[in-house]
Parts: sequence; structure tokens; C-alpha cells
Amino acid sequence: MDRDTKGLAVVARSERIRENDRMLTLFSPSLGIVKVISYGARKSIRCVRAPLYTEGVFSISLSRSSSWSLKDIDVISTHDYLSEDLEKNMAASLFSEIVISGRDASAELYSLYTSALDALEFYNSENVVISFIVHAMKLLGLSGDYEICPVCQRAFREDEILGFSDTEGVAVCSECDTMSGSLILPPNARRFIQRTLSLSLKDSMDLHTSAEQRHRIFRYMLRSLSLSFPGKLESLEHGIWEL
Ligand SMILES: [Zn+2]
Repeated sequence: MDRDTKGLAVVARSERIRENDRMLTLFSPSLGIVKVISYGARKSIRCVRAPLYTEGVFSISLSRSSSWSLKDIDVISTHDYLSEDLEKNMAASLFSEIVISGRDASAELYSLYTSALDALEFYNSENVVISFIVHAMKLLGLSGDYEICPVCQRAFREDEILGFSDTEGVAVCSECDTMSGSLILPPNARRFIQRTLSLSLKDSMDLHTSAEQRHRIFRYMLRSLSLSFPGKLESLEHGIWEL
């Protein structure tokens, strides 16, 4: 990378490091996952505000101490509404944790992440969380396609209730279930997940389901994520959602 560079990115994490300075973790399809210092109110330096979840084109520069610092942003969206609602905020925090846990920032994952942050403005947060997890797990290779049992390779029957393998971290047929039926996926919920997977996150927001059914699928996705994801997810462990 050059000493000065710029790229499309989202502030996926923001931590205070000194009284006025913050360490930002940018998630960017061109720069990757990069830590950048945002220097705060100091007389000599022009202050650039970069709140959490800001999307824009970030100009950053490499200092002599080989750390990146933030120079400027052409803001696309600040996603302000995320700080006003606890559910939306938790959802955004979960999405961010998932995307920055990997090493690279693919264009597909970036597009999924930003569509999900955008969708939280207008849609029910459970809907957005379901669709994000379904798509992210597929992109990260953490789930099967819900058509074939990933363990024994048998095609699921239309009316089959799926179990879960906590050793493989995937939904499986009843014979491969290792959780004694304590994490099951009924046929109608599976069809909803398959439909979600066949559509973009934005288009999947139009899928219709009852609030009760949506809540069940939401809880299923959170539980399967906690069993499939390599590493701990703070927003699940210490968040507001009951698993
Ligand atoms: Zn099986």
C-alpha cells in the first residue's frame, strides 16, 4: 500500500485509545480489514468525525510508526438510526463482529454487510438478522444448503424435520442429529431459510411470515450461529438476546 490511500469502507468497530483518539476498524473491499487511528480534537489537527457504522470513502495515511491514521471521509451514510434503537444496535454489532472476525473483506461480504446495515433503517430487525446470518454463514462456508445433509449426503425429504450436529456445526438429517432433537428445524422454517438464501438480502425483506414464526426462525439462526461460528461472538454471549 502507498503512504496515502483511500477506499470504500465502513467503521465496523470504534474503541477509545486515548482521551481524544479512537482506534477504528475499517471493513473495506479494497483495503481489507484495517485499523486506523482517528485523532480527535487537537489544535494542530483537523478533526474528522467517523462515528461507528459510518460508510464512505476513507482517506488514510501511513505514519512513520507504521500505523494508519484517518485523514478524510466522503460520507455515504452515517446509519444514525442504529444508535437510537437497542435491537438495531445489537444487530449491527453482531454483523460487524462476524465480518471483522475473518481475514479478508470480500466484495460479497461487504455488500451483504452494508445492505444489512441499510435494511435496519426500514425493516424489522429480526428479519434483517435472519437474512444476514443465513447469507453470511453460506458465504463463510459455515452452513449447508438445507437440501442435502452435509454429513451423510442424503437429500432431505420434503416433510423432514432437520436436526443439528454440534460437532459439525450444521443442520443435518434426523439420523445424523447429535443434539437429541434440542435444535430442530421444521419443514416450513427450512423452506423460509431456503427462499431467503435464493434472494438478495434486500429482496428477502419482502418474504412474508407471521411474527411468531419469524421469532422462532430468528432464535434458531442465533443458536445455530453460536454453534457454527469459529470463536466467540460477544454480541451473542453478552447481548440482549436469549439463546
Ligand atoms: Zn445425515
